[in-house]
Amino acid sequence: SMEYGPAPEADQPVREWLARHGEGFGHFIGGAWRAPAAGTFFDVIAPATGETLARVAQGDAADVEAAVAAARAAQPAWHALGGPGRARHLYALARMVQRHSRLFAVLEALDNGKPIRETRDIDVPLVARHFLHHAGWAQLQESEFSEWAPLGVIGQIVPWNFPLLMLAWKIAPAIALGNCVVLKPAEYTPLTALLFAELAQRAGLPDGVLNILTGDGRTGAALVDHRGVDKIAFTGSTEVGRQIRAATAGSGKSLTLELGGKSPFIVFDDADLDSAVEGVVDAIWFNQGQVCCAGSRLLVQEGVEAQFIEKLKRRMATLRVGHSLDKGIDMAAIVDPVQLARIESLVETGRAEGCTIWQPREVALPERGSFYPPTLVTDVAPASTLAQEEIFGPVLAAMSFRTPEEAVALANNTRYGLAASIWSETIGRALDIAPRLACGVVWVNATNLFDAAVGFGGYRESGYGREGGREGVYEYLKPQAWSKLPLRT
Ligand code: NAD
Repeated sequence: SMEYGPAPEADQPVREWLARHGEGFGHFIGGAWRAPAAGTFFDVIAPATGETLARVAQGDAADVEAAVAAARAAQPAWHALGGPGRARHLYALARMVQRHSRLFAVLEALDNGKPIRETRDIDVPLVARHFLHHAGWAQLQESEFSEWAPLGVIGQIVPWNFPLLMLAWKIAPAIALGNCVVLKPAEYTPLTALLFAELAQRAGLPDGVLNILTGDGRTGAALVDHRGVDKIAFTGSTEVGRQIRAATAGSGKSLTLELGGKSPFIVFDDADLDSAVEGVVDAIWFNQGQVCCAGSRLLVQEGVEAQFIEKLKRRMATLRVGHSLDKGIDMAAIVDPVQLARIESLVETGRAEGCTIWQPREVALPERGSFYPPTLVTDVAPASTLAQEEIFGPVLAAMSFRTPEEAVALANNTRYGLAASIWSETIGRALDIAPRLACGVVWVNATNLFDAAVGFGGYRESGYGREGGREGVYEYLKPQAWSKLPLRT
């Protein structure tokens, strides 16, 4: 509607930046734009409108070679700068992100299709926070990690759901501790990484510390295979994670994997139901459900099931779906028509398996672009597809339980183990349940809370390794013991 529509000129600075690169973006290697060796480019599409935003390079093994060489060349001096010296650069990156927060927020919303309110209030501030936090670790490096050394050159591969935030989660700890990076953004959403690289260089980051290679899975695979890479840090699907695990086995490379999830959202009969309904909205409709730790399985205690589902449906009917730059909407576009088709097909599988699919009649979808309504699925058998498979879309699968024991068993009954959310007004009960859940992160009367100081990551097929906190710092260091004995003369 006009009332809530974007300001007409809201995206003007982004348009100007894109126009300056109208010939196509090269890779960002050694502090400069470099045309792809094979001369191949592909289009980047805005999912909310279908328009072409930019052309970017499709990287191949020759481009990987150049990027790894630039990172390798830069790494000794970057390490020699020392923790406090690198901290100054991380503070400068945080300030750069804050100064250009509007540009980043609009570009991210256009490229990914997510609501501007989310990029402005969540993604971009968390990016700045991540650099500030890791500047602190850099300052402490010599005192806290004196018997640890950087790994060297890190290959990092990120998905499309939080393009800039995942970049920050990857590069902040890596460069803070003296490593240099070659990062490959997802092919759907490479633009904020390219803007970040350009502005980072202008903010004085030395050439070669951060290199951005664009391209699809083939570019990622070439990076994984390169012998000059000391570690691969990957966030994405469990399937590709498994391939990378096989490809790096026996190579001597370190590896961390942040993969998929099917996280439970557990509502006990003594929960504050209205708060829990708002929690569900955040758990499964934030970023259109394209969140690895999305609370995609609602487990509700039998005594309050009917009442809770009723409240939830009423709330769902008030959600608004619209264009990414519209500040008045709750949900925007799905990242790509391929992902949309995947969601539709999984929901149809659920229907064929006997699930009941409910979508509020009140929620209208824009006519153009990739959109999917908020969806509630009931009559879900615990072993069925929608109870087990990650949908990565705005689809909530609801089940019920009788006892806390049943809740734990149901919660743990998937191959994943990323996150969980427990809702109860009896804190003793919540704290009794939490450690029995097989997952890396548990929230009590809350969901989707992220902080740079807290390690995030999964168990089982959700991957291994942590990002954030002290545990995340160790992922970018190797132990190196120094003799403390006095020298013999
Ligand atoms: P994806 O695995 O297809 O792609 C992720 C990245 O890997 C992209 O950059 C892609 O180009 C690259 N890639 C693809 N094939 C590759 C290969 N063979 N070798 C190396 N790189 C390759 O996943 P996606 O569809 O982009 O992202 C959605 C998935 O990511 C979901 O399953 C979601 O759960 C998961 N995810 C997990 C987390 C987490 O922290 N655990 C965070 C975000 C997303």
